[in-house]
Amino acid sequence: MSLPATVSALRDTVLRMFPHRAVPGLIPVGTPGPDSPVLLTCSFTLTLRRLQRVLAGRNVWLLAADTHGINVWCAAGGGYLTHHEVIAAIRSTGIEELVDHRELILPQLAATGVEPRRVRQATGWESRWGPARLEDLPAYLDRGRRTTRRDRRMRFPLWERLEMASMWAVWTALGGGALFALLGGWRTGVGVVISVLLTVGAVFAALPRLVVTGHRRWLTYGAFAILGTGIGAAVMLLLGAPTPRNLALQAVASVLAMAVLSIDLAGTTPWYPSTINTFRNFAHIDLEPERCTFAGDCVQVCPAEVLRLDGPTRKVVIARPDACLQCGACIVQCPSDALRFRYPDGRIIPPAAIRSTRMNMLGRRTVTVEGHDPAVTPGSSDTPA
Ligand code: SF4
Repeated sequence: MSLPATVSALRDTVLRMFPHRAVPGLIPVGTPGPDSPVLLTCSFTLTLRRLQRVLAGRNVWLLAADTHGINVWCAAGGGYLTHHEVIAAIRSTGIEELVDHRELILPQLAATGVEPRRVRQATGWESRWGPARLEDLPAYLDRGRRTTRRDRRMRFPLWERLEMASMWAVWTALGGGALFALLGGWRTGVGVVISVLLTVGAVFAALPRLVVTGHRRWLTYGAFAILGTGIGAAVMLLLGAPTPRNLALQAVASVLAMAVLSIDLAGTTPWYPSTINTFRNFAHIDLEPERCTFAGDCVQVCPAEVLRLDGPTRKVVIARPDACLQCGACIVQCPSDALRFRYPDGRIIPPAAIRSTRMNMLGRRTVTVEGHDPAVTPGSSDTPA
């Protein structure tokens, strides 16, 4: 990778918390022709760069919808990637003149926002769900555009967690390093930078095993503050400045770093309940079996293998309710409105409300549902305020 590309990739990684908009439109990869696949994506620079990298050596058309520089999952959950953006991308890029087919491959994580039937109604294009993760695209294309169970399941591997860590750690370390260098000299600043980088990295590396919500989260943060203090003290020893004042400053810096991290560490990703946003268990996925027509769209788009097709009954079953991320994709995609969210008190949030408000773990997290009648039916007028 060239130096400018490396700098650009580092910048996008460290700043991934913020939208970074690439020019939306049609991007040829290789030398695509009339029969080449057309893959829809977002206008987030990091995603586009990675897509071009994993698809290198192939001939495909990338159709980058204007998602305001937000990645696919967040844009779809937040209402920035819907069928409207997909329809606009098809109509505005001239792709219809360049290919002799009408098949669009949608990223699975767009299912919280994009309704394929609306794309079909408006443009005549048929949509097909691709894998949840872009690195699975080459195998998916080689397989004849069929997803596997592995393709459909969202993963959060170590290297990606460490990328997330960099997003928090770099700014916390630089800000803290500068502040504590002013308070205790350059050695203290260096100690703070090193201890914050290592401690935040350790938090994210261990994240799947950590308690980061509820009262016990303070034990987690306390333990890592002690670890950070120890690392800072070791650096002070190496630099020959382990004075009581410097060690005290390292302890204060570690506590502050963990305080900053605790603001919304868990909300960094939909995999974990948000620390400050306590609406994680606002509602549960709920199935009305009588409405289920065994279409299977929900199983196709669920990133957590919560749903399963039950052959003997020819119905969908909620096989792993506790694994539900509350992304809402299955609800948006069900053609017969058989899935919905249900509040613990029995109130039902109709699918129409989910579709129109983008209420899910990535977008809006609460809606007001009038009344307390559990018999409120999907698609009724009992929609959010
Ligand atoms: S079952 Fe839960 S995780 Fe799966 S698609 Fe539906 S809302 Fe998302």
